[in-house]
Amino acid sequence: MHKPALPVEETDTYQDQIRIVLVETSHSGNIGAVARAMKNMGLGNLWLVNPASFPDEASYARSAGASDVLDRAQVVSSLDEALADCVLVMGTSARGRKVPWPVTAPPEAAARAAQYAHQGRVAMVFGRESNGLSNDELQRCHYHIHVPSNPEYSSLNLAMAVQVICYELRMHYLRSLEEGESRPHLGSMVRPGDPGWDVPPASVGDVEGFFGHLESVLEAVEFHRRSNPRQLMPRLRRLFQRAHMDQMEINILRGVLTSVEKAVEARDGVGPDKATAADAADEGQDKDHV
Ligand code: SAH
Repeated sequence: MHKPALPVEETDTYQDQIRIVLVETSHSGNIGAVARAMKNMGLGNLWLVNPASFPDEASYARSAGASDVLDRAQVVSSLDEALADCVLVMGTSARGRKVPWPVTAPPEAAARAAQYAHQGRVAMVFGRESNGLSNDELQRCHYHIHVPSNPEYSSLNLAMAVQVICYELRMHYLRSLEEGESRPHLGSMVRPGDPGWDVPPASVGDVEGFFGHLESVLEAVEFHRRSNPRQLMPRLRRLFQRAHMDQMEINILRGVLTSVEKAVEARDGVGPDKATAADAADEGQDKDHV
């Protein structure tokens, strides 16, 4: 009898760690078709950001036998909510962008997702039927997954795109059962999230807190103006997301930013109490995240 190399419990956990996130789906039938595609490939963790209509008859009709995936689906009102506790986010899009995001093909994306799924939750994000993911939404992701379709007719139906990604995840999973855990761990340790790294990867919520803090400090030192952003934040976001920071690195960077804030306050002769009053008076500054 074939014996899985990974214990069954860990395997289940791994598959549950992978979350399919659909952003503002307009046709509920597509949500049902996505649930079916997921369940065929052994996945069941579906999150819906502001669906136009859900739950409804059309979604259940198209889900065939995957109604349990729909029953368990989480409906949330923002993408941030769907991603906050994840350690890896991959967004799918047929289109390249003005500030290009790191692009990966589905098989490599599946391998990376599987790797991070052993350390935390992983989100695979899919856009609207009409106009996909916005730039801002794609910039919430560590990677842009592109299905290498016909360049002259590149946009897949939503559920078909989910099927392709879930198939790759399944293929990776089946291969890992065959290979077992015999692969050397140290050989591929290059960043947080890789097996053997000493500190767990930071969650998206923590990284977003850092980006908010960074933007606020860059404004305070007058390097950045919200009125004239010059793509600064997307470019910094891309830089830091490429590093895929761990929890300790985020804490260090937050500490650096706090020191800069204190130095600016000391330079301007503003004490902590006065600083709070000054900040409250300045509408442009958002200090909530500090
Ligand atoms: N017309 C939209 C595409 C919508 S297709 C646009 O121009 O962006 C619905 C979703 O399916 C997309 O948001 C994306 O998540 C996924 N998708 C479709 N084609 C894809 C492709 N070639 N590569 C990666 N994802 C794709």
